[in-house]
Amino acid sequence: MSNPTIQFLGAAETVTGSRFLVTYNNQKILVDCGMFQGEPEIASHNDEKFPIDESSINALLLTHAHLDHCGYIPALVKNGFTGTIFTTHYTELIAEVVLRDSAHLQMQRAEFEDVKLKADERGSLLYNEVDVEKALKQFKAVEIRERIEVLPDVFVTFYPSGHILGATFILLEIGGKSLLFTGDMGRGSHPFLYGPDLPPSQKIDAVITESTYGDREHQTPISDFADELNKAIARGGSILIPAFAVDRTEEILFELRRLFDARAVKSIPVYIDSPMAEKVLVFYKEAIEQGTPDIKSDVAEAFTSSDPFDPGKLRIMTTVDESKLLNDISEQSIVISASGMATGGRVTYHLESMLPDPSNTVILVGFQAKGSRGLALQQGAEKLRIHNNWVPVKAAVANVESFSVHADRKEIVSWLSHIANPTQTFIVHGERESQEALKTALEGELGWKATIPELEKTYEVR
Ligand SMILES: [Zn+2]
Ligand SMILES: [Zn+2]
Repeated sequence: MSNPTIQFLGAAETVTGSRFLVTYNNQKILVDCGMFQGEPEIASHNDEKFPIDESSINALLLTHAHLDHCGYIPALVKNGFTGTIFTTHYTELIAEVVLRDSAHLQMQRAEFEDVKLKADERGSLLYNEVDVEKALKQFKAVEIRERIEVLPDVFVTFYPSGHILGATFILLEIGGKSLLFTGDMGRGSHPFLYGPDLPPSQKIDAVITESTYGDREHQTPISDFADELNKAIARGGSILIPAFAVDRTEEILFELRRLFDARAVKSIPVYIDSPMAEKVLVFYKEAIEQGTPDIKSDVAEAFTSSDPFDPGKLRIMTTVDESKLLNDISEQSIVISASGMATGGRVTYHLESMLPDPSNTVILVGFQAKGSRGLALQQGAEKLRIHNNWVPVKAAVANVESFSVHADRKEIVSWLSHIANPTQTFIVHGERESQEALKTALEGELGWKATIPELEKTYEVR
């Protein structure tokens, strides 16, 4: 075929499982290799056989370290992928933590479900820590904004996207065509990361854009966080913030420190209860100390000698025993724990113990996917199924959207408008309604033709 093709192996008509295969002659490049997450019918895609021979893929480009973009990599390697995984330095570091945690969780879940794994049955897991180890050896860190040749005559440039530390959007030049993958697009409102670079000015043939918030515009200003904290403190109980371990926890800590310093909120003890957050926090601190290009220069300058993530009374709970101690603390405090949608992790134990008390408050600070406990709480559920118990929801539930690290419809359309009319636009990484809304906006406001690609379907890049 004279033109490259693109096949959507995930994040098609859904948010998770970003996997896009670009083929030209016999060159195969995979952009992202994420895990499907959420409702069982979506998550079950992970257990299906990968649609193409893993060993036939020549290279992998990774936009960032969220599980829905990198979580399937060890399985790909386990099943024969031997190519190089190109990504940024911090994505490599964070992906290592995320993937080790993912392998660990799979093992734990298997044990919890009382699956007594015999050696020959261990293959039933997607991957284990040994597979992760093997995959990590194939990573190669690249510089941002530098055009590199990843395969003969295939050029790639990674640009910062302002979504999380190390996150990028990618320009892929292959077979005479230019493809731009937005990855997950930041907003420019992050407290310490710069917003996304503008798209490159050259002709782009195909844009592959995310659409997580394609059907909304973020409403709540950051001051709402302070308001909700003050209301929660007045309620007398403690505060639980379910938060993703990567980036969201750092953003919350950074903001708490600012609010406590400014005396906008009464300073109370803060507990981080997520081993993954603890590890990722180290990279964020290092990035600020070293003034990495992702980090706003005024923030880097302000924190050369103090800790940007310590609001004053910070304690990190590492072990399970320390985590359990939190149930007995009578002093009013803030607990930040993963996972962000309360689908698993230590936060589920804190919800179980804190939800029945009307003096407590749960503050939701992120995207809550269909089927998650977080969404049930957001929608006012009166009880929640946790660890096979029905837990009454008596605690107050608040929702603060301002921490979103995804561009909303207006922001993404505005960013894309800098690209001169691409021949094709593919809308991925969104629930159906968000994709439709973004399609309407792109067609109406920019006059673009946009396609919502079908899962596993192949399209010619024209
Ligand atoms: Zn992401
Ligand atoms: Zn994503």
